Amino acid sequence: MLNDERSHGLWEKTAPPAPKTVRLQGDISVDVAIIGAGYTGLSAALHLAGVGTKVAVVDAVEIGFGGSGRNVGLVNAGMWMMPNDLPGVLGKLHGERLLEVLGNAPQSVFNLVDRYKIDCELERKGTLHCAVGADGVKQLEQRAEQWLARGAAVRLLDARETAAKVGSTAYAASLLDNRAGTIQPLGYVRGLARAALENGAAIHTGTPVTATERSGDRWVLRTPSGTVSAEWVIVATNAYTTSPWPQLRAELLHLPYFNFATTPLPEEIRETVLPERQGGWDTKEILTSFRMDKAGRLVFGSVGALRGTGMAVHKAWAARSIRKIFPQIKRVTFEAGWYGQIGMTSDSLPRFHTLAPKVISFSGYNGRGIAPGTVFGRILAEHIAGTVTDADLPLPVTKPHEQGMRMVREGYYEVGAQLAHLVGNRF
Ligand SMILES: Cc1cc2nc3c(=O)[nH]c(=O)nc-3n(C[C@H](O)[C@H](O)[C@H](O)COP(=O)(O)OP(=O)(O)OC[C@H]3O[C@@H](n4cnc5c(N)ncnc54)[C@H](O)[C@@H]3O)c2cc1C
Repeated sequence: MLNDERSHGLWEKTAPPAPKTVRLQGDISVDVAIIGAGYTGLSAALHLAGVGTKVAVVDAVEIGFGGSGRNVGLVNAGMWMMPNDLPGVLGKLHGERLLEVLGNAPQSVFNLVDRYKIDCELERKGTLHCAVGADGVKQLEQRAEQWLARGAAVRLLDARETAAKVGSTAYAASLLDNRAGTIQPLGYVRGLARAALENGAAIHTGTPVTATERSGDRWVLRTPSGTVSAEWVIVATNAYTTSPWPQLRAELLHLPYFNFATTPLPEEIRETVLPERQGGWDTKEILTSFRMDKAGRLVFGSVGALRGTGMAVHKAWAARSIRKIFPQIKRVTFEAGWYGQIGMTSDSLPRFHTLAPKVISFSGYNGRGIAPGTVFGRILAEHIAGTVTDADLPLPVTKPHEQGMRMVREGYYEVGAQLAHLVGNRF
């Protein structure tokens, strides 16, 4: 997008085209205005339009321009935090509620894909969280025990079973999460947009919201080419926000994450790498993720930005790591490399905010936004319809809190990832 092949990489090459949308021209009036055409905004639009609400989505750039068009495509259940720790941080009510909502969230994605026949390479084979060393095994044992106590469809696999599922002997164990899966992320967000349009929503791209003002009991969103007047506003801009609510940006640390995609692997090798097509990632602090696409390309990623010296450093690391983890891939040739910014909160949990009267927002997905964004979008729609009150939300209503030393810490992530990858997997 924007003629930058490092923004959406493989996904832009292989996704079905976006539905036709145009820039806002003039002044419009709707019930609900949504800022941001990613999973959160478009799921909200789809669910609102589905019950007859007049809704308009505006995006500064394109459908899926933010994280929704750039991610790995792992449709995860739950957050990074250990299940048993969540009630301690959020309180028992919200902790258990969030676990239940997010545990079931991948199924909501699968249901929408089925219902609207979204062309997005969906695989419902689960995901594999892969253990590196004894510490990794211990972490997964605890995670398995805590999810199983809640009746979740997960299973701890030993080294032999893991090797068969991953196609590599690099891991000591893995946690197979049967609730999860993989998608082509840009295909999915474009499919949500198409479904929202078919249900009567309006979507305007190339339309940045630059200012807002209150006019009576309505909001007026200002853009360079017109205004949107609405009773309610949903701010669904997450890590890519440039909205008139700068506190949303101040609350998030940007963590860069890249992916490289190989050319399609030869037939006989492609059947040995993730043969059942689970998506995977490991237990390392600077983690590595891997999945296959429909055409048999290996998509391999980690923390880092593909800019400046980062491009060469991370590319060399990715090639070395693939040869080490999947030695059956003799020749590693990349056909795409891209990266994006993940929005991280201070405790790795998402947030619900009321930014002003009838201005609401979910954000801070910490690299796990496909299923949560989809479900939170629906919850925003239900909140506006009045069927989900503040007391029923899966998160407490909070005010954004700025994270200290943001620029320094973001610089540290980018440089630190380069240093780690400069030496990583050399031997
Ligand atoms: C590299 C990477 C890998 C990831 N991997 C995974 C993964 O495997 N699994 C997973 O579940 N999650 C993953 N994530 C996280 C996930 O992609 C995000 O959490 C999710 O896409 C957020 O969706 P969203 O709709 O809330 O926001 P976004 O998709 O970021 O959309 C926000 C939109 O708001 C628009 N916008 C911003 N400001 C304005 C304005 N002023 N006016 C109008 N429009 C505006 C932007 O243009 C953008 O299109 C990853 C993220 C990245 C970056």
